[in-house]
Amino acid sequence: MKKVLIIGAGGVGSVVTHKCAQVPEVFSEICLASRTISKCEKIAGEVTRPIKTARVNADNVSEVVQLINKFNPDMVINVALPYQDLSIMDACLETGVHYLDTANYEPPEEAKFCYKWQWDYQARFKEKGLMALLGCGFDPGVTNIFCAYAQKHYFDEIHTIDIMDCNAGSHGKAFATNFNPEINIREITQRGKYWEEGKWIETEPLSQHKTFDFPEIGDREMYLMYHEELESLVKNIKGLKRIRFWMTFGEEYLTHLRVLQNVGMTRIDTVEYEGKQIVPLKFLKAVLPEPSSLGENYTGKTNIGCMMKGVKSGKEKMIYIYNVCDHAKCYEEVKSQAISYTTGVPAMIGAMLMLRKVWIGQGVFNVEELDPDPFMEQLNKYGLPWTVTTKK
Ligand code: NDP
Repeated sequence: MKKVLIIGAGGVGSVVTHKCAQVPEVFSEICLASRTISKCEKIAGEVTRPIKTARVNADNVSEVVQLINKFNPDMVINVALPYQDLSIMDACLETGVHYLDTANYEPPEEAKFCYKWQWDYQARFKEKGLMALLGCGFDPGVTNIFCAYAQKHYFDEIHTIDIMDCNAGSHGKAFATNFNPEINIREITQRGKYWEEGKWIETEPLSQHKTFDFPEIGDREMYLMYHEELESLVKNIKGLKRIRFWMTFGEEYLTHLRVLQNVGMTRIDTVEYEGKQIVPLKFLKAVLPEPSSLGENYTGKTNIGCMMKGVKSGKEKMIYIYNVCDHAKCYEEVKSQAISYTTGVPAMIGAMLMLRKVWIGQGVFNVEELDPDPFMEQLNKYGLPWTVTTKK
């Protein structure tokens, strides 16, 4: 019987709260805290049992420390924004509670994400006997676990990995992002990057693309991007020769994005407007639909998985491990679209394994460093069943 503090009441926070509430035997008490308390209260009104809510500005370490001391949780699930990762980790260290998140730290003033800032907490978490689990959403998260599972059960060595993220859903809006617009647009407009034979190779943004026939969806055009799980998988998967990440985008989405970039709306530096300093991308976020509002009429499916080639007992082998998730079914269950759902369910499972002491560790971990089997088992149980196909 454990207490969990969830920080962030957006699309993902809502799913994590719903899913934790469905497992009272592990999460006996839940507190959902965020910058805007009305969002926490709305979610509290939808879940299956009473939870606590609180207002917190998680940029401020002492506010998080105060909240932790008041509620006294066993762990914090951070599903606010990447900007808050370090302040929440600092608060966990100060109060002696475990930590989990779904996206790595990124400084607000520069569109650059990398694990270094959080990996630097390794000694401090270890010294305190605490565990910090990084990137426990779908990608990063489940995709890393798919790789660890393949390494454990299917290969002696994995040589190439292509992580492929396809959203073939339709929300009926002209342009919207499926998770926080600011973080999403910063990620997509960056230069592409992949790793081959020990080197990082950069590409122009979204310049490399190809068609893939996604199971249960069909042909979709996917674009090479840099994504955070590449950084840790390069370290943790043995014998790797190449790893890339691909995401599908529709023509309509890309056209909107190009126009927004061309007119300067995706800039992250400040501009003066009517005597005020504003960041165009933050203003854009304010006028775009919230990811948590997209679920109601969303139709179609996602297919996210890892295509891996390698050798087993001297023979070459290729497998695809993937999950298919249906937007409308997610909405029926927890009033969310599939992107929030596929992120929130793994965060709940990771927290559950930590609280049950199935996943134990002292220090900072990426999910592929832990035993994938119990996690894979829980994915099937809690709404994200997976399939393995062997390719010729
Ligand atoms: P949303 O924008 O819907 O929600 C973010 C929430 O965090 C909002 O409720 C927001 O509050 C709150 N928040 C922002 N700043 C603060 C702060 N300083 N203090 C307290 N709360 C704050 O985003 P999503 O739910 O879509 O995404 C949440 C996280 O999940 C992001 O980090 C995203 O990168 C990650 N993610 C990971 C994925 C994966 O597969 N690994 C996939 C998708 C998302 P307010 O409402 O007041 O703005």
